Amino acid sequence: MQGHKAQGAQGQLDMEGALTARDRVGIQDFVLLDTHTSETAFLGNLKKRFSEDLIYTYIGTLLVSVNPYKELDIYSKKQMDIYMGVNFFELPPHIYALADNAYHTMMAEANNHFILISGESGAGKTEASKKILQYYAVSCPSTTLLDSVRDRMLVSNPVLEAFGNAKTLKNDNSSRFGKYMDIQFDIQGDAVGGHILSYLLEKSRVVHQNHGERNFHIFYQLVEGGEEDLLHQLGLESNCQHYSYLVQDECANVTSINDKNDWKTVRNALSVIDFDESDIQHLFGIIASVLHLGNVQFEADSKGYATLNKNTELRWVSTLLGINVQVLQEGLTYRKIEAKTDEVLSPFTVDHAIYARNALAKAIYGRTFTWLVNKINDSMENKEPSRKTVIGLLDIYGFEVFYVNSFEQFCINYCNEKLQQLFIQLTLKSEQEEYEAEGIGWEPVQFFNNKIICDLVEEKHRGIISVLDEECLRPGEATDFTFLEKLEEKMGSHPHFITHKLSDKKIRKTLDRGDFRLLHYAGEVTYCVVGKVSHGLRLNGGITLLLNVPTCPTSRFHCHSHMSLLTHHSFSHVVVCVIPGFIDKNNDMLYRNIKDVMRQSKNAIVRECFASTESDSRRRPETVASQFKSSLLGLTDILMSKEPWYVRCLKSNESKQPGRFDDVLVRHQVKYLGLMEHLRVRRAGFAYRRRYELFLQRYKPLCPATWPHWRGVAAEGVEVLVQHLGYLPDEYKMGRTKIFIRHPRTLFATEDAFEVC
Ligand code: ADP
Ligand code: MG
Repeated sequence: MQGHKAQGAQGQLDMEGALTARDRVGIQDFVLLDTHTSETAFLGNLKKRFSEDLIYTYIGTLLVSVNPYKELDIYSKKQMDIYMGVNFFELPPHIYALADNAYHTMMAEANNHFILISGESGAGKTEASKKILQYYAVSCPSTTLLDSVRDRMLVSNPVLEAFGNAKTLKNDNSSRFGKYMDIQFDIQGDAVGGHILSYLLEKSRVVHQNHGERNFHIFYQLVEGGEEDLLHQLGLESNCQHYSYLVQDECANVTSINDKNDWKTVRNALSVIDFDESDIQHLFGIIASVLHLGNVQFEADSKGYATLNKNTELRWVSTLLGINVQVLQEGLTYRKIEAKTDEVLSPFTVDHAIYARNALAKAIYGRTFTWLVNKINDSMENKEPSRKTVIGLLDIYGFEVFYVNSFEQFCINYCNEKLQQLFIQLTLKSEQEEYEAEGIGWEPVQFFNNKIICDLVEEKHRGIISVLDEECLRPGEATDFTFLEKLEEKMGSHPHFITHKLSDKKIRKTLDRGDFRLLHYAGEVTYCVVGKVSHGLRLNGGITLLLNVPTCPTSRFHCHSHMSLLTHHSFSHVVVCVIPGFIDKNNDMLYRNIKDVMRQSKNAIVRECFASTESDSRRRPETVASQFKSSLLGLTDILMSKEPWYVRCLKSNESKQPGRFDDVLVRHQVKYLGLMEHLRVRRAGFAYRRRYELFLQRYKPLCPATWPHWRGVAAEGVEVLVQHLGYLPDEYKMGRTKIFIRHPRTLFATEDAFEVC
């Protein structure tokens, strides 16, 4: 990416043109200007720029992006060329400028970086991460050999999105998993490999979706777009309405999504990523088997136990997964309990069988997703032992508040708290601590530190996750309600936690007995803790009539009486919907005998996915929340060891309308993301700092008194050097061990002089 200065100069001319029209386009970096520090002025500037389709604005090196909800002509190859190798502030703000600057700093300093992209669901994180990846893939130097790695990096996106994204109320293409991707560069700056870490896929979506939402895209792509032969082979009908996992909410078609076209893209991408025909066959066999599983219906026998009458669907599952149908049937209707010398088969009630069926569908899908990520990683792996540096891209689910929020939102929002905490530590807090340590005069900036909420969730022995895990250790005794009671006991007086019982009269009206509410840094969220079993009638035309929605305060499986009642009245289309609560979702239990059944599968992917040693070991598997907590701690460690760059994405309006800027909504995000505090710290602070020794070492050729050697103390040498360069007193400060430079332009001028000399 070197040697593009000429194009950069052209770009600079463009920008000068733009700058004369400042009133029209607003201010492109809040830090460099002397006025406009109020929130209203900040918003006014964002809005003015937004109305001119200028969606990017800087706060120093942090990029603020406002979702335009329309295609803008700013991502062409020509635009990429303009931004290549040009200093950050020489051109109008752009995601390419940030990507380019991270890259050049990595090359110059030979260290690792990461780009943290944050913002609430639908704000534009995934789009931003794709733009950055494209920039590296297109603009880095290339050899034919590497082209294939680069292609794989690019096509991994549509594949992972097909399997890991879904339509939610917030976003038609919402990421339901977290993704951290390292892009590896060799010493010449070529992008030579990639590696993805995925975080907690929202598996519950496979079996249940809320009103107005869809299952993962891949199901619709296969059913709508799959070739006739393939569908025939998989026993599928080309009609989403046929599958109960897809039509729970009659939301199969979304205008912004073209499942047929996306199918072609995914099919094509799979062949780029080293998938051979048998992999593909097995993969789609799995997707189809999940759909068939969803249609497996149980009926109650005279004792209320689950039986399977019509088992066409089960036969398809058995064919596609290569498992004996009898064995499979037994696995779905009985649980094997090991007594001292014997094994006893304990039959399931209908609700219990549905729970077990759904647990199996979720497990198969979730494990296949992990397998897919591993497979993509294999294909992007660079096996050369040479030294590499990386730029990590973090695109993780954004803060979410729905009408009903469950365990998944709890995990997602906890993750966002952790990232906000990281941001605070790396910017506001560490910045101010450094000024203090270096003895630089400084007026501290107040900010809300969300550590108190992180602790509330994750603290050892005392946090919500610990309490939940403790309850999960008492099978048979603990319920979602006892979990809530324990929370009330332990968190009672915490300023960020309330429940129905703990709140005053006014607030109580807004809470159910089965809820708790957290006051997150980004706003209040009410979590519904308890599981539900609902029974309904599926009428002709797919409409579901709910008969009752009983919660199960004592145990999730004591509701079968309702089911028996319905079946005894010989309703043929009885729908039973089992929605697990916090305890079940955290346990994520799959009975051992069904795991054993899966291990016998002739489908190579399923066999591999279930082949782990887990069932041999008697140890209790880690709960979902604990696993998630440790993976987030691992992620924090990965990020802390790298140099940060930030993209803060803002949602312009809730209705996904092009060009609409909702002042209240944007103001709220600006507030909770701490952008004003960040601006204040940045404005009062120094954009650049370096240890005296390093600064002197690099720039000493620029001054006769320091070249070739400065024999005195490094700090004094730096003072002589910057005097010689004509730095004004206001432009820099001398700390205990480092020089601090206020504006990037001062440093850029020095750097330019260095390049010339
Ligand atoms: P997030 O990952 O933050 O939940 P996405 O990146 O998926 O959100 O963005 C949601 C939708 O907003 C996209 O599908 C797209 O329609 C629109 N969008 C986001 N960023 C841009 C952009 N830079 N230009 C045009 N449209 C965008
Ligand atoms: Mg996303």
